[in-house]
Amino acid sequence: EDVSSQPTDTLQDKLLGGLLAPGFDEGSCLSRYQSSLYRKNPLHKPSSYLLSRLRSYEDLHKRCGPYTKSYNRTLKQLKSGHNASSTECKYLVWISFSGLGNRILTLASAFVYALLTNRVLLVDPGKDMADLFCEPFPEKSWLLPTDFSLKNQFNTFEQKSPYSYGNMLKNNILNSSTETLPSHLYLYLAHDYDDHDKLFFCDQDQALLSRVPWLVMKTDNYFVPSLFLIPSFEQELSKLFPQKVTVFHHLGRYLFHPSNHVWGLITRYYQAYLAKADERIGIQIRLFETGSGPFQYVMDQILACTLKEKVLPEVDRSRSIVSPLGKRNLKAVLMTSLSSGYFENVRNMYWEHPTVTGEVVGVYQPSHEEFQQTEKHLHNRKAWAEMYLLSLTDVLVTSAWSTFGYVAQGLGGLKPWILFKPENQTAPDPACRQLMSMEPCFHAPPFYDCKAKTGIDTGALVPHVRHCEDMSWGLKLV
Ligand code: GDP
Repeated sequence: EDVSSQPTDTLQDKLLGGLLAPGFDEGSCLSRYQSSLYRKNPLHKPSSYLLSRLRSYEDLHKRCGPYTKSYNRTLKQLKSGHNASSTECKYLVWISFSGLGNRILTLASAFVYALLTNRVLLVDPGKDMADLFCEPFPEKSWLLPTDFSLKNQFNTFEQKSPYSYGNMLKNNILNSSTETLPSHLYLYLAHDYDDHDKLFFCDQDQALLSRVPWLVMKTDNYFVPSLFLIPSFEQELSKLFPQKVTVFHHLGRYLFHPSNHVWGLITRYYQAYLAKADERIGIQIRLFETGSGPFQYVMDQILACTLKEKVLPEVDRSRSIVSPLGKRNLKAVLMTSLSSGYFENVRNMYWEHPTVTGEVVGVYQPSHEEFQQTEKHLHNRKAWAEMYLLSLTDVLVTSAWSTFGYVAQGLGGLKPWILFKPENQTAPDPACRQLMSMEPCFHAPPFYDCKAKTGIDTGALVPHVRHCEDMSWGLKLV
C-alpha cells in the first residue's frame, strides 16, 4: 500500500499527527502504521518544533549512523584513544540493562539527551532489542554494530569501574580545565550511582562532556525530570515540550514500535478479548514483596481501590440474578501480573455474583510468567505486548514503583490510579490515588545544587518538577 496516495488527514492520523516520518516499508513493521487504528485520537499534539527537531535528528542519524563515512572516521579516533579534533558526528551509546520497562524508559531518556546535545543515539542490542522493536529512524539502523570496539567492556561496567566519568573525577584524572580529553567516556547513571556520577546533572560537567565524541551510558532510570533542572537545557526543553507532561508520551510513541511478532500478540489479544467491550479497564499488579502470594492484603487493596474509585462495579452478594433489561454494558478488564491468583479472584467474583449496576464484566489475563526471566525471548515479547495492551485501555490501575506500569500510562496518555506500596504486609489506606500526570517517576534523582555546591530539595525548585506520588524521594514532571 502506498501511503503517499492516501488523503492527507488519514495519512496524518496514521503518522500520529506528523510524529512519524513517512517512507518506511510498512510490511517490515506493521505496528508503525496500524497503531492509530487501536489508539483513540490523541488528546495531546506534539509541538511543531518537536516535529522539526525529529526530522533533523533523522537527517543526522542518516549522515552519521553505523558504517557511514563519518561513523567510520569517528571510530578511528575512538581506536586511537585521542580526542584529536572536533568530529562531525558525536555519539551516545545506550547499554541494555535491567527489565524491559526500565529499558524503555532509559532509552527514551537517552534519546532526549541525544536531541539536546546533537548526538547520534546507538543502541546496544543486548539479547533481544532487535526482536522486540522496529527500527525507529529511516534508512540507518539505531543498533550498535556488533563489531563495536568497546562492546566487550559493557558487561563489566558498574559503579566502581575506574573508567567511569564519576570515578575519573573522583580520582582527579579529569577536571573541567583539562585540555586533552579522552575520545570516549562512560556515564554511570544507574540507581546505585554516587555523588560524583551525579555531577552529570550539572552545567559545568555538561560543558566538558560536550567535547567528548563517544559517550556510553548505563542507567535503569527515567532521568528526564532532572534534565529540566539543568539551566542550559531548560529553554530547549520547553520549546520541544510546551506541555511538559508529554515527554515520554510523544517520544515513546515515536521510538517504540512493536516488532511484527509482538504486534501479532497485541492485535490477536485485543481483537479476541477487548475490542467488543464498551469500556476497557487495565489493572497491573506488580509486587516487590518477598514470597510468591497471592496475598490477602493485596487482594483487599485491589478491591478497596477499584471499588471505591468506581473503576469496577460492586457485586450483589445477596442476589443470584439481576433481571435482564435490554443491552448490558460490557466491561473488559485486562489484568497483568506475574502470578494468576489476583486475576482468578476478580474473575470469580464477577462470575459468581451479579453486579449492582447490571453491567457484565469479563476479566482476562494474557500470561502469568511466575518470575522475571529477562533472558528469554518469548517472555520479553509477552511483557512488551502486555505493557502495550494496558496502554490501550480507557481506565488504568497500576502498581507503585513499577516502570512496567509507567510505560503503559505514558504510551496511553493515561493518568492511572496507582496502588500504593504495601508496608509490613498490610494494605495501605488509602489504597490508591490518581497520578498528577502521565509522566514516569525518576526513582533516583540527584539532590544537589550545582552552583552553591550543597544539597537541595530538587523537588521544590520549579512547579513542573515535583516529588512522585508513589515514591516520596522520586521526581516527575507534572
Ligand atoms: P518493573 O520491575 O516493574 O519496574 O518493570 P520491568 O519491566 O523493568 O521489569 C519487570 C520484568 O518482570 C518485566 O520486564 C517482565 O519481564 C516481568 N514482569 C513483571 N510483571 C509482568 C507482567 O505483568 N506480565 C509479564 N508478562 N511480565 C511481567
